[in-house]
Order: sequence, then structure tokens, then C-alpha cells
Amino acid sequence: MADTLRIVLSDSKKEKPQANALGFGKYFTDHMFVMDYVIDKGWYDPRIIPFQNISLHPAAKVFHYGQTIFEGLKAYRTSDNRTLLFRPRKNLERLNLSNQRLCIPPVDETMVLEALKELIKIDEEWIPASEGTSLYIRPFVIATEPDLGVSPSTQYKLMIILSPVGAYYAEGVHPVKIYVENQYVRAVRGGTGAAKTAGNYASGLAAQEVAGGKGYAQVLWLDGVENKYVEEVGSMNVFFKINGEVVTPALNGSILNGVTRDSVIQLLKHLNVPVVERSISIDEVQSAYDNGVLEEAFGTGTAAVISPIGELNWRDRQMVINDGRIGEVAQQLYDQLTGIQTGRLDDPFGWTVEVK
Ligand SMILES: *Cc1c(COP(=O)(O)O)cnc(C)c1O
Repeated sequence: MADTLRIVLSDSKKEKPQANALGFGKYFTDHMFVMDYVIDKGWYDPRIIPFQNISLHPAAKVFHYGQTIFEGLKAYRTSDNRTLLFRPRKNLERLNLSNQRLCIPPVDETMVLEALKELIKIDEEWIPASEGTSLYIRPFVIATEPDLGVSPSTQYKLMIILSPVGAYYAEGVHPVKIYVENQYVRAVRGGTGAAKTAGNYASGLAAQEVAGGKGYAQVLWLDGVENKYVEEVGSMNVFFKINGEVVTPALNGSILNGVTRDSVIQLLKHLNVPVVERSISIDEVQSAYDNGVLEEAFGTGTAAVISPIGELNWRDRQMVINDGRIGEVAQQLYDQLTGIQTGRLDDPFGWTVEVK
């Protein structure tokens, strides 16, 4: 752990894509961060090296038993050309919580944050500047021990890769149609739902495929025990505004503790909008709709920040929310959060961290 950061610069630079062709996670910068772990030594040899393929033994445990975790955060370019990270410590704390759940040894959060800043500085030219674009940061850990026994790996790799990403909403924030899933579940109490681990996403694909085939953008996940309480929407946290009050499912062990979720809760309190964390059943959502008090619904996450829900389909009953338009609170949260993230607005919470 006492190792100092080693830096090997690439002797060539890749061509950068056009801002309007970025998409999400298709292009990667010139460098990456890597650090290894072996059981007798701990984490060692933190290094920034040219972006490259990796070579792994076919028996590496990650391929067989999914012992792996990831994170996702963004760096933003401000109009005066500074680089801001949004609450990066929260992502590193969560990385270690995910590690703990997957029996992966913890990393030194301070050291990894410093290395990340160094990596961003080296690939700084890759941070796109146009409205809505950013540099997506993907830290991840994989179990690399070549051994088919089902037990925690004795070897790991932590890597951080960077991807310039396009504006999520190229034509303004638009609400999406959501299918309430009542066959598949995403996570169960006692499972890995609160960890950012690959298996959660692999197991969600089938439901997403079915919903997509019916014309829905994503699914609304219900709890895995009673198939009754709302948990998340796609891979985002979910909020409802019912009769003037904003409600989001309480963290119950199967819900991912989103940094955007936490920021939205704090921001709502700051704006004096009533907000509560509690369990909320899909029946309650339906009856709020029937009574005309389901005013807004939206998802929250790093990629889209705020993703308004224009329509919910539950057991073939359609709920069109706010006439399919973005609600007032969702719009306000989107403007405030993206304003803070990009340095356009004041940051009363001290959320942004400058890379310099
Ligand atoms: C990453 C993620 C979120 C959102 O977390 P943020 O920190 O806000 O990006 C929500 N739900 C799931 C399942 C996730 O993987």
C-alpha cells in the first residue's frame, strides 16, 4: 500500500470522437489506472499505463463466479475550463461496501482518489466540453485467481477506465415509459442488491428485454419477497411525488444507495419540498394515480441524473403521469444538480471536488 504511483505514458494519442457521436461508454481515453492484489502482499503496484487489453487465465474466478464490483461517476468540464468531480468520496466508500459484500479486500480510498485525479489530469483533453457531455469514470475490481473452487479469490485487479460520454438528453429531458415487472425480481433481502456487482445487472436483462419488446424503456422493480413494494427503476433509484410530498423507497438492504438519490433528498430538503424515505407499495402508487394525486415520478442516477417517468404500466393498466411531461420538481432538481455538477451554480453543499 505504501507503493507510490507509477506512471507510464502512451507514446501515441488516439483520435478523439466528435461530441455528437459520443453515445455512452463507446470510446475510451489514452490511459488507465491498474492496481493488483495478492493475499500475502495486499494491494500493490498502483500505476497509470497506456489504455490496453488485459490478459487473464481462462479459470480466473471472475468469469465463473462473478466476483466483481464496479462504480460509476463523472468528471465535468466547467465553462472556465476547470474539471469537477461530483462527490467522488461517496463512490469510493460505496466501492468498499460492495467489496465487502463480495469478499473482496478493501482499497485505500484516499490513495485511489488521488490516483484517479492524476489519471484525469493526464487524459484531461478527453473531457468533452459541449452542453450535457462529461467524462464517465468506471472503476472496477475483478477476481483474477486461476482456480475453479468456489471461494473468495486470493488475487484481484482494480482498474479505472475513462469514457467521454454524450449528452443523455440530446433533445431536452424527455419522460420514459416504464413497465412494472411482476414476474422477475432484481434483488432480495439478504442478497446483493445493495452492492454494485455484475450479477445484479446480468439477472435484470431478461426483464428488460421483455419490457423493451412491449415498447417500454425500462422496468420498475418490485421487492423480491412480496412482489409488492417498489424498489428501483431500471438501474436507477425511484421517486414519486404524491399530493405535494416526495416519497422514495427507504434503503432496505436490496436497494442500491445512489449518490444521486442522496443528493436529491438533500436538495429537496434545502428547497423546502417535503421528502420521506419509506416503503411504498405499487398499490399505493396506483391508488394515488386513481385519486389524481400522483403528480410526478422519476428515476435518479449518475448517467441521466434525473429521468422522468411519463407512463407506468402495471398489469396492463396505464398510468400517464403529468400528461407525459416532466414535472416541476423533477425539472428543478435536474437544473440544480447539473448546475452544481458543471460549476454553473453555487455548490452550497460542498459536493464538487476540483481536479487540479
Ligand atoms: C448505480 C446505480 C444507481 C444509481 O446510483 P448513483 O450513485 O446515483 O449513480 C441506482 N440503482 C442501481 C441498481 C445502480 O446500479
